[in-house]
Amino acid sequence: MSTTTDRIPVMVPFLGEREEKAVAEVVASGWIAQGPRVAQFEGAFAERVGAGHGVAVSSCTTALHLALVACGIGPDDEVIVPSFSFIATANAVRYVGAEPVFADVDEQTGNLTPETVRAVLGPRTRAIVLVHQGGVPADVRALRELAEPLDILLVEDAACAAGSTYRGAPVGADALVAAWSFHPRKLLTTGEGGMLTLDDADRAARLRRLREHGMSVSAADRHASTGPVLEQYLEVGFNFRMTDIQAAIGLIQLEKLDAMIARRRELAAHYHALLEDVPGVRAVRDPEYGQSNYQSFWVLLDPDFPGGRDGALARLAEGGISARRGIMASHLEPAYEKVEHVDLPVTERLTRDSLILPLFHTMTAAQQERVVAALLEPVASGA
Ligand SMILES: *Cc1c(COP(=O)(O)O)cnc(C)c1O
Repeated sequence: MSTTTDRIPVMVPFLGEREEKAVAEVVASGWIAQGPRVAQFEGAFAERVGAGHGVAVSSCTTALHLALVACGIGPDDEVIVPSFSFIATANAVRYVGAEPVFADVDEQTGNLTPETVRAVLGPRTRAIVLVHQGGVPADVRALRELAEPLDILLVEDAACAAGSTYRGAPVGADALVAAWSFHPRKLLTTGEGGMLTLDDADRAARLRRLREHGMSVSAADRHASTGPVLEQYLEVGFNFRMTDIQAAIGLIQLEKLDAMIARRRELAAHYHALLEDVPGVRAVRDPEYGQSNYQSFWVLLDPDFPGGRDGALARLAEGGISARRGIMASHLEPAYEKVEHVDLPVTERLTRDSLILPLFHTMTAAQQERVVAALLEPVASGA
C-alpha cells in the first residue's frame, strides 16, 4: 500500500505566497470583478505572446466560442477541428450552430497537417480550429498556406501552449485569433480563466463587448467615470468575464512562466533519457520547427506492448502514481457519435495507446525514475 505522502500527482499548479498576497490586495481594494487587474493581465499576456491585444475571459472554452462568433461563423458553416483534442474544441463549433468536421492528426505531433485538413475540405468549410496539442506547436505556416487562398479562417486553440515557440517566435504571435486556458491542468493558472489574443484592434474591441453582454461601455469604465454614463447593448453578448482576483494570480503566474517552462523542459529531457532505446515506447518531442512547453508529456506504446496502455495505467496507479489516458478523441464520445467523419486511424491509435505521465515543477528525478520503472516493468523483467 502506498501512503499519501509518496503519491505522485500528474500535475501540480506552481502557486505560492506571491499569488496569495496578490489576491489579498485585490480583496482589500474592494474591486474584485473585472477591473484594473484584468486590463493589466491582458496587456502583459498579449505582450508575452507577441500579440497586439489580449481579451481576458472566463475559460478557453468561452474564448473559443467568442472567437468563432467574432469570425462570423454560424449555421450552415463547417469548421474543421481535430477530433484528437479536449472536447471543448469541438463543442465551441456547436455553440455557434456550425458543424464540426473531424480531421486526423500527425502521429508525431498530434496536430492537424495540410494533408489531414485537405482530406476533409468542403464547399462549406469556413474555418479551421488548429490545436497546439499538449503544448506541441502546430505547423501554422503550412496550414495558413492551405487556408488563406481559400478564404478559410484559422483560429488557434492554444489552450495548452503558453510559452511554446514556433519558428523562433511565441505561439500565437501572428495568429488571426488565439485562445488560451488558465485551468490548473495547464502551465499558467488562474483557477479558471482564459484569454483571446489577436492583432486586429476592431475585432478586439468587439470581443471585449461580447464578453460583457454586448455593452458599449464596460462596467469598469462606467465605474471610473465621474459623470453619468448610459451604456447601450449593441448586440446579444455573453457574461464571459474574468475577475480581478483571477487576473492578480495570472500576473504573478506570468512572471513565473519562463521558469516553469525551463523546469518542464529539463524534466522532459530526463524522461527522454530514461526512455531512450526502450523498444515499444515513443515519447512526445519537439517538432523540428518549434519547441513545446511540455504541458503534457505523453508516451505512445506499441500496440503489442505487454499489458497495453490500460495495463500501464493500472501499474502506475498501483504504485501510487497518477497518470492519465492520452488525449481524447472527440468523435468516439456519445456527444459526437452521430457526426459523420472520415477514417481517423492516427487519432484512434494515439488515443488508444498513449498515456500522459506526471510532470510538475517540483517533481524530482527520483520520482521520474519511479514512474518509468512502473511503466516499463513488463519489459524490464523480460516478460
Ligand atoms: C483545456 C483545453 C481546453 C479548455 O480549456 P478551459 O479553460 O478548461 O475551458 C480547450 N482546448 C484544449 C486543447 C484544451 O487542452
